[in-house]
Amino acid sequence: MTRPQSRILPQVTADSRAFWSGGAEGELRIYRCHNCGRWFHPPVGVCFRCRSRDVAPEAASGRATVAALTVNHHPWFGEVFPPPYVVAIVELAEQPDVRLTTQIVDCPVEDVHIGMPVEVDFEQHDDVWVPVFRPAASTTATRNGGNQ
Ligand SMILES: [Zn+2]
Repeated sequence: MTRPQSRILPQVTADSRAFWSGGAEGELRIYRCHNCGRWFHPPVGVCFRCRSRDVAPEAASGRATVAALTVNHHPWFGEVFPPPYVVAIVELAEQPDVRLTTQIVDCPVEDVHIGMPVEVDFEQHDDVWVPVFRPAASTTATRNGGNQ
């Protein structure tokens, strides 16, 4: 599937800046609580589990698993965002209850399935790096002893 030429971009806040700019260094930055150790998303200045304010963004591995998906066929955004494309919820490898709503790219829409291993990639639009996910390249290599 082709990638969109543009996107409707988020309004970046102080809390979300690390998430939207991490792609400049190739990092998926997710907030983590230094008190209880849990990751959480979306980014806010307080841990919703233990209420600690000792939280900060940290680079996650970028590995994830497709938990849910839908294939959009409607041309909502015309030629700049041509269908079909997959909108998915992915669970991060670090902690499955940390989920991102994202797009699965670099893969035929019919090949995307629940349980599929994916890895993060970024699309830069202005000063925002949108995290998207593509099929994990390492699935076969890892099984054969590679460490890609
Ligand atoms: Zn906490």
